[in-house]
Amino acid sequence: MNRNRMKAKIKSIKSSDKSSEHSRNKKYVYFFGKGRADGNADMKNLLGGKGANLAEMTNLGVTVPAGFTITTEVCTYYYQNKQTYPRELTKQLDAALARVEKIMGRKYGDPDDPLLLSVRSGARRSMPGMMETVLNLGLTTKTIPGLIKRTNNERFVYDAYRRLLMMYADVVMEKAAGIEAADGEGIRQKLDQAMDLMKERKGIHLDTDLTANDLKVLCEQFKQIIKTHLNKEFPDDPQAQLLGGIGAVFQSWMGKRAVSYRQIEGIPEDWGTAVSVQAMVFGNTGDKSATGVAFTRNPATGENVFYGEWLSNAQGEDVVAGIRTPNPVNKAGKTADTQHLISLEEMMPDLYSQLFKIQKRLERHYTDMQDIEFTIEEGKLWMLQTRTGKRNGQSAIRMAVEMVESRLINRETALLRVNPDQIDELLHPSVDPEAGKKNPELVKGLPAGPGGAIGRIVFTADDAETWAKRGEKVILVRNETSPEDVRGMHAAEAILTAKGGMTSHAALVARGWGKCCVVGANALDIDAQNKIIRVNGRELREGDWVTMDGTRGRVFEGQLKLLPADPANNPWYLKLMKWADQMRKLKIRANADRPEDAKTARTFGAEGIGLCRTEHMFFEADRIRSVREMILADTLEGRQKALAKLLPVQKEDFIGIFKAMDGLPVTIRLLDPPLHEFLPKTEEELQELSRDMGVPFAALKAKNESLHEFNPMLGHRGCRLGITYPEIYEMQVQAIMEAACELTQQKVKVIPEIMIPLVGHVNELASMRALTIRIAEAVQKKSRVKVNYMVGTMIELPRACITSDEIATQADFYSFGTNDLTQTVYGLSRDDAGRFLPYYQEKHILQDDPFITIDIEGVGAFMKLAVEKGRKVKKNLKIGICGEHGGEPRSVEFCHYLNLDYVSCSPFRVPIARLAAAQAAIKEKTGKKRKR
Ligand code: ADP
Ligand code: MG
Ligand code: MG
Repeated sequence: MNRNRMKAKIKSIKSSDKSSEHSRNKKYVYFFGKGRADGNADMKNLLGGKGANLAEMTNLGVTVPAGFTITTEVCTYYYQNKQTYPRELTKQLDAALARVEKIMGRKYGDPDDPLLLSVRSGARRSMPGMMETVLNLGLTTKTIPGLIKRTNNERFVYDAYRRLLMMYADVVMEKAAGIEAADGEGIRQKLDQAMDLMKERKGIHLDTDLTANDLKVLCEQFKQIIKTHLNKEFPDDPQAQLLGGIGAVFQSWMGKRAVSYRQIEGIPEDWGTAVSVQAMVFGNTGDKSATGVAFTRNPATGENVFYGEWLSNAQGEDVVAGIRTPNPVNKAGKTADTQHLISLEEMMPDLYSQLFKIQKRLERHYTDMQDIEFTIEEGKLWMLQTRTGKRNGQSAIRMAVEMVESRLINRETALLRVNPDQIDELLHPSVDPEAGKKNPELVKGLPAGPGGAIGRIVFTADDAETWAKRGEKVILVRNETSPEDVRGMHAAEAILTAKGGMTSHAALVARGWGKCCVVGANALDIDAQNKIIRVNGRELREGDWVTMDGTRGRVFEGQLKLLPADPANNPWYLKLMKWADQMRKLKIRANADRPEDAKTARTFGAEGIGLCRTEHMFFEADRIRSVREMILADTLEGRQKALAKLLPVQKEDFIGIFKAMDGLPVTIRLLDPPLHEFLPKTEEELQELSRDMGVPFAALKAKNESLHEFNPMLGHRGCRLGITYPEIYEMQVQAIMEAACELTQQKVKVIPEIMIPLVGHVNELASMRALTIRIAEAVQKKSRVKVNYMVGTMIELPRACITSDEIATQADFYSFGTNDLTQTVYGLSRDDAGRFLPYYQEKHILQDDPFITIDIEGVGAFMKLAVEKGRKVKKNLKIGICGEHGGEPRSVEFCHYLNLDYVSCSPFRVPIARLAAAQAAIKEKTGKKRKR
């Protein structure tokens, strides 16, 4: 009879005829129970992760409460057909439920001995906390007395009932019904308040101290509150409850939280969720019952010890929700804080040893760390979930390596298992996650530069420098940064900006240095004049301490604990990187402009410098004046005089870098940015300069204005500067070659690769190549040394790609400047794209930001052309990439397929690129195309 009503219900939601062909004879419901399941672990797409693994565990003979999974196709159908179900569903549901009832020996809705059910959601990929679960379905005024009689445990039954009321009202009656409650006004909060009030009145703290009668009274209150608050009765009918539960899970797929989570994680909407309906087992029947969550290895450290938490007399989410402090599952898991709590190992040793064996077995079966959920009902252990556990970088690496050592997996699998970005976590000190949990955050922004940092707030780059000189640790806080701020940025422990995105100046510079940085913290109201920050009702002043978590984009007030980075002493990291190096084909270089960056790069495994930008050197305090003199000089003579002052300092820089790289190739790019970037921005600065140089202010100002360009990015820059002011490039080549010759004389091996930027036409390169060779030969002749040098070009314009067969005749090497190439192929200015690119991504016009990951179809096609045409002319043309993309895993993979010789990225990304390059090689070898 019950069954018939369910049929009627499903019909009443109306099944549409539209896709009846598609649904005829289709299997929509997959049963699992008593050692046999229709599905298995490989069917995640159809059964969701949870359903597939429940089936797999059942097949393995692990005790799992019987149940069935409704496929993701039903979800898709549901949304394609005006929220109706396929016709065949009813019959299949009935049949599956009958099998569950048979195995469990009781019937759903039976007043004498009711079976209770849970309804659980599960998408292909886990979406933690995004979707819904309802427990204890089937409790009604008719079935409650029967259950009390059977269990002889009134308290348990009303505890289960109050949980059902709460979850059902929240998940089915409010959320799935599309009711958007204001903050704190949701039905769950209302019911929580009622329960708190009851506890308060009774003077108790724990849920478990509520008596049967308390809970009974509470349930009545709950029903009243539901009625008044939602204008609806809680359904006192098992079938209505079940259908409501199933519908709510499907409905939750399109819930606000789920939709935005999918957007962030790039999970397609049409995947849908599956629904698993499962016989309930109870961890809340008393002291012989319990529930818990565990990991087959410690997910925070990666250590190979079984790790978990449990609570006696509890159900469902109690462990996770922190209703009571959960106990460690075993003695090994006790900490100073939990020493006094009794473990499952001590409390129920037999059950613990069963659980221990099962988790071992599951890990061996899945060959990866598992995150498991279990419940003990009156001394019997039930497994409720297993899935591959989430982990941080540290533990991902340790687990992967240790699993190879114990022969659970091979090296290739280990290398593929670590997400290259996770390596980052090992290279920077980090905010202690515990401290991060305990302290409220001051403001959130974008995680532009990973790691943690502590320091005192300053508002200008100059202050950052002076304070740092005094030995203070400072955090530079700005609305946004500009090239003039670089020295202050370098002096600061970290950088915080209110504006800008992941590709803003602050973000780029910080990433290059591996410096902690949070950008775009919009909530900051920075009053730089009075040196006050107002944010979320707080006021911070110069000198106040803050802690920055650049990995997560969070900022805290005060000084939080930092955990130091120490990769050189991390045996698992070293081993994994060694395997990666053996596997990869691409060489890895670093972008570094200063000797100390070059040294860092080397310690991270760089095999050369792929880009040394000479202009950064120009900004240093002792040079900027000469640079400005050079720019503002009206005559060749004047320029040469200023350049002569720059020559020795540039030479010193190159000596430092060559020494640091000791025998590894160093690609040096000649001056690239438009000259006006070096000039003072304000009237005062201009005035100061005029006094310093003894040049009339008006003349300076006029010159300054004359350098103004409408489109500096496409203006007088790159080799165009070298062609119009050859003396600049001559000086730079001379500095490079003198440094190289001097070191060669001292028996230091140097391999300079001189790179001409922004070449579009072969004649540009031919001319600059001639200049370079002329000077290089002269310097060598004079110092009577031969240096092995090369002259090449940066490929960053579409025209260069298309005419690569001509350009290659004048180049010893290529290096893709994919930042500019992306700008010019796309006709997109990186500095302005922040206004619309986020919108593009939101609206799915672009899946990815082309400045972060190479746009393979567009920019990538130009690169491919350049490689093919170039190597047709010069078979062994050395080609690399030095744009920001060189350290981004997907772009690295693309470069591998393009057969480039190397990728070059910022020093701190070198290890990431090493791993990404290894993964690309492994994927190619195993013929696996990366899924996207
Ligand atoms: P989530 O996806 O949020 O983890 P679950 O479907 O795993 O949601 O349900 C949450 C918790 O509810 C489980 O960890 C388990 O403790 C409890 N639970 C779910 N189904 C049952 C069941 N059939 N019997 C007992 N407890 C269950
Ligand atoms: Mg779960
Ligand atoms: Mg460029």
